[in-house]
Amino acid sequence: MLFSFSIFTERATHGAINNTNMTNVTLRNINKKYENGYEAVQNVNLEINAGEFLVLVGPSGCGKSTLLRMIAGLETITSGELLFDNKVMNDTEPRKRDVGMVFQNYALYPHMTVAENIGFPLQVKKEPKEQITKRVHDVARMLNITDLLTRLPKQLSGGQRQRVAVGRAIARTPRVFLFDEPLSNLDARLRMDMRTEITHLQRTVGATAVYVTHDHTEAMTMGDRIAVLKDGIIMQVGTPSELYNNPCNQFVASFLGSPTINLFNGVVQPTANGTEFIENNNGIRCAVPRNAFTHVLPSTTTQATLAIRAEHLQAHATTPTFTATVENIEFVGHETLLHIQTAGTKKILRNTTATSVQVGTELPVGITPEFIYFFDSNGNRM
Ligand code: ADP
Repeated sequence: MLFSFSIFTERATHGAINNTNMTNVTLRNINKKYENGYEAVQNVNLEINAGEFLVLVGPSGCGKSTLLRMIAGLETITSGELLFDNKVMNDTEPRKRDVGMVFQNYALYPHMTVAENIGFPLQVKKEPKEQITKRVHDVARMLNITDLLTRLPKQLSGGQRQRVAVGRAIARTPRVFLFDEPLSNLDARLRMDMRTEITHLQRTVGATAVYVTHDHTEAMTMGDRIAVLKDGIIMQVGTPSELYNNPCNQFVASFLGSPTINLFNGVVQPTANGTEFIENNNGIRCAVPRNAFTHVLPSTTTQATLAIRAEHLQAHATTPTFTATVENIEFVGHETLLHIQTAGTKKILRNTTATSVQVGTELPVGITPEFIYFFDSNGNRM
């Protein structure tokens, strides 16, 4: 929270910093095959709206940076089209794309002062000296780093360096902001403050943003929309709540959300009055409502994984679905997470009841049927 106020103030007093040049970014059937034959990005289609904050999230090595670097022009596009406002950019030089990029390792010029680092992109554009000085001061005020302008990068903390790197990216009022894991080197508290700061800043500046991270919390808290990538392929694109509440597959369901979604392996089968789920390990049974399936109801016994979020398992249920032993209790202030074990499988439950629980307690647990969904043996939503 430390710095976000300065940005709000800037929004009110430095309207001139606003960017009216908001840009649509379109990726059409984008592929990247590296020289060694490795296909890092496969057939990516994505429409990033003007002024939108889009997060590309996925585990390490899934192709996020490759995709971002292709948008920046730092990596060639093997096939497909990249468009800014319907203009094909594939062969446009990086410096002519008008993008501002922020890297994880800051990439500041070590021999230049903070002011020189921020002003550098404008110097390259050969802008008049007074204009550069004014812009550097406006940007520095925006980022609350005016008193650091004469320092060298080595005289700054990690958080201050990252702020300078952001300043350098916005100095030239880019059409598109590209962030490559910019907060990964910062401590947890600063990372949280900077999350809010970056999203406020992006809205103030008005540039379209593409933000790469492997951190699901960053993705959920920062993105207007999120694109989840796995092995170079986009799994799903949507708002944080769409992806959290309606994941298209087990990968997306498990990747987003904290604590991780609970999974029970078993079968679904038709019964006289509907459908039921029977879990493999200890035969946990529960009736399944029709709307748990997005596709046709299975008409025979079918392998299925039941998925349910921690907040939809009820502790001290009056009609319990199963009993579990409490193994660990995590008090997080506004809520308590119970790590429970049932027949060798570990689950997590968000305890919303006032009844106290100790480690070792045998807990009757209920599954809230409205909130379950199923994945088939390929991990796709049933
Ligand atoms: P992420 O940013 O999601 O961690 P990257 O885009 O950096 O992933 O890399 C995606 C995949 O492409 C990885 O498996 C990585 O090893 C591979 N890769 C990256 N750069 C090259 C390269 N120059 N040549 C061959 N393979 C590469």
